[in-house]
Amino acid sequence: MFEVVGEDENARAGKLHTAHGTVDTPCFMPVATKGSVKTLSSDELGDMDIEAIISNAFVLYLKPGIDVIEKAGGLHRFMNWDRTLFTDSGGFQMLKKEFVFNVSEKGVMFRSPFDDTRHMFTPEKCVEVQEVLESDVVMVLDDCPPYGKDHKHMRDSIMRTTNWAKRSKVAHKHKKQLLFAIVQGGVFRNLREKSATSLVEMDFDGYGIGGLSIGETRKKMFEVLEYTLPLLPEEKPRYLMGVGSPGELLESISLGVDIFDSAFPTRNARHNAVYTWNGSYNITRGKYTNDFSPLEEGCNCYACQKYTRAYVRHLMVVYEMLGMRLITIHNLHFLRELMRKTRETVLENRFSKFKKEFNKIMGLCQ
Ligand SMILES: [Zn+2]
Repeated sequence: MFEVVGEDENARAGKLHTAHGTVDTPCFMPVATKGSVKTLSSDELGDMDIEAIISNAFVLYLKPGIDVIEKAGGLHRFMNWDRTLFTDSGGFQMLKKEFVFNVSEKGVMFRSPFDDTRHMFTPEKCVEVQEVLESDVVMVLDDCPPYGKDHKHMRDSIMRTTNWAKRSKVAHKHKKQLLFAIVQGGVFRNLREKSATSLVEMDFDGYGIGGLSIGETRKKMFEVLEYTLPLLPEEKPRYLMGVGSPGELLESISLGVDIFDSAFPTRNARHNAVYTWNGSYNITRGKYTNDFSPLEEGCNCYACQKYTRAYVRHLMVVYEMLGMRLITIHNLHFLRELMRKTRETVLENRFSKFKKEFNKIMGLCQ
């Protein structure tokens, strides 16, 4: 299921075995909320050696509806993806006001942004939907309040998250699917501890850490990780949800995180940001008008092998979709390489040096 194959201080290299293959960790998962990593086909992701992606159960339940995906033979078949597939529960959608009608002990009453209809999502329903999707890793429904709620609100919230996790575990019958719980508690140490401890007692296949990178400072986020991660069992994978900037990935790995996802690297690509080993840059700047070098010198991604900065800049300036595709390919390739190198340095016990050098060039903000 999960094995740690190397450690360098708190950083880990591991292998997550799922029904659709093995994922080397640390791993960054591109986000396919609606069943597609925006602008790319599944084959293209496979060609880039992306080993895992994450979709969203609640969003797919609304459209096209799980009956369609069931008829297709599951989400893997529906989207032609034959590697590891995570599905998020819908908890994250609670951060968007327009999605939530109300939250009770029973579950979340969601509002469809498509047609304003209401949908009750209980923890049991959430597991059931993900069973139909046949994803490899099922995330339990969690209560994920927006940043800034007070201690009392957050205390009630983690009690609910714990209770929902318990109900999810009972409802989880499809044993080929791994079931991950999600630690919540905002920026309150005693609540994070309480949440982690009670979820660990229930013995899940892995643990997500949710409710971070939603408005708190970066320093606060790392502080939370620093005291939360040691409470999670060493032999289980740890998944920091919604974090994906290169500097944050390395810092979180140094604290013991194994898996990440974030929509930012692909969203940034569609907004002109190109990731490189020297920091990111905006391709639409005038200085690239006549620059016939690749997006990054030395990069062996498809975009850099075939196209120039001048061409990609032109595409982005005139809003041609190919430009978005090429930068998305490059950015995901960059993160794949970053994870591969990180893993290598953990296995060779030189991760701290690698991170230090990387931060010197990139800064934590990148
Ligand atoms: Zn490239």
